[in-house]
Amino acid sequence: MTKVRVRFAPSPTGALHIGGVRTALYNYLLARQTGGQFILRIEDTDQTRYVPGAEDYIKEALEWCGLHPDEGPGYGGDYGPYRQSERKVLYQKHAQDLVDNDKAYYAFDTPEELDARREAEKAAGNHSFRYGVQTRASMRNSETLSAQEVADLLAADTPYTIRLKVPSDEIIKIQDSVRGEVQFQSNELDDKILLKTDGMPTYHLANIVDDHLMEITHVIRGEEWLPSTAHHVLLYRAFGWEDTMPTFAHLPLILKPTGKGKLSKRDGAKLGIPVFPLAWKGDTPEDSFTGFREFGFDPRAVLNFLAFLGWNPGTEQEIFSLEELIAAFSVEKIGKAGARFDFDKAKWYNQQYIINTPDADLLATIKPMLAAKGVDKDDAFLETFVGLMKERVIFYGDFWEKGSYFFQEIEQYDEKNARKKWKPEKQPLFETLRDQLKALDAPDEAAVEACVKAFMEANELGFGAVLPILRLGVAGTMQGPSIFAVMALLGMDAVEQRLNKAFDAFNEIKARAANG
Ligand code: GLU
Repeated sequence: MTKVRVRFAPSPTGALHIGGVRTALYNYLLARQTGGQFILRIEDTDQTRYVPGAEDYIKEALEWCGLHPDEGPGYGGDYGPYRQSERKVLYQKHAQDLVDNDKAYYAFDTPEELDARREAEKAAGNHSFRYGVQTRASMRNSETLSAQEVADLLAADTPYTIRLKVPSDEIIKIQDSVRGEVQFQSNELDDKILLKTDGMPTYHLANIVDDHLMEITHVIRGEEWLPSTAHHVLLYRAFGWEDTMPTFAHLPLILKPTGKGKLSKRDGAKLGIPVFPLAWKGDTPEDSFTGFREFGFDPRAVLNFLAFLGWNPGTEQEIFSLEELIAAFSVEKIGKAGARFDFDKAKWYNQQYIINTPDADLLATIKPMLAAKGVDKDDAFLETFVGLMKERVIFYGDFWEKGSYFFQEIEQYDEKNARKKWKPEKQPLFETLRDQLKALDAPDEAAVEACVKAFMEANELGFGAVLPILRLGVAGTMQGPSIFAVMALLGMDAVEQRLNKAFDAFNEIKARAANG
């Protein structure tokens, strides 16, 4: 069997939509599973839509996810260049070959002529004018002009496009690995432009020439490209490359979280969720987006989540490492139905990955973020912190958001609970507890717990009377991991200092409540 060669072929027109990452992932999985090659090709022939920085963004996004291309611009490979703008001559030559073999033709219609024709058709009640089988004979092209006229026009440097000559009255059949057989009626297809007046190829020509020359065996891409596939099949035929035509698989749409309609880039801003792998800074705020990375996602969780948007293994297993995905993936198990972008599920995945990652590894990931917040604790402290917090976070940023009290004094107490739980007359009792804790010599969690419990027993106090005060006093909040563990980690000096400050704060909160 020929080696599998798949490509991810984004156009650098802006940030890469998360659906693009899913496409890259499925291609990558197939390549790795079969020992094949995963190729990155940059489809940048549409100069009007080219956005500087987009190619770098695409590469950074792939690398962040761990989808390293085997070939591509900057990655090496024997089939380059991998940027279509650097392959212009190749496309021109191939377009010319098609003209020479009567599979394509020169079209000299000016934009004004085309507009006029479109308007005339509209006036006659036809709103979908198509330059194709039915109309070709009434247009200005090398099919209708004499050889001499064509030669003269070319000699005079008249602008022209090259169009594909779609055969008439044919049913074009495509075997799609996801959808089965899909049919198109050739009379309903237009004679697609292959080469534009500026000598640049269109997507269709460049895509097929490159897939052929790069020996691509499987084309896995979004559903929106399915209609183009009819033209692509015709192009393979026109070139005489049918024998090596790749297998097609068109991935289902990714739907909005509501399940209604296609997920768009605007949905991210509207719902406050990321729909791009990395943040993107466009020229305007409307064109700037947050990313999964900036949201605090682990890339492994993102891949796991994306893998299930349109594919599932047919078992109950939901957590798959990249290695496991490579082993389990199959194109046959890709679904036809649109896949709902369920952000809660993405969060669930992230939580699972964080919980299942060793503390030291988590620390390595979040250390720069902590450092940026001014944290300068040693690794032993930080690892314990990570271990205490990891079941309570969803995003990496939550380690700080929910756990900053490990590193700084409490500025803001949960006032409502402080008001409810603090009994000023009990302050002397809590001062005793504070002193007993202070007397412990570098206690661990169990020792702190034993001390607090002994105190409760001696004073006939229940958990409800004591623990909330310790929590609020030491952490400022009622939420969080075992307060005994938190206190043990902070150390008794800090606990003493925090409790002293808290007693004052609680009294003040109470006084304020009483006055007003
Ligand atoms: N350049 C196309 C895109 O932006 C590639 C489509 C394909 O994979 O054929 O998605």
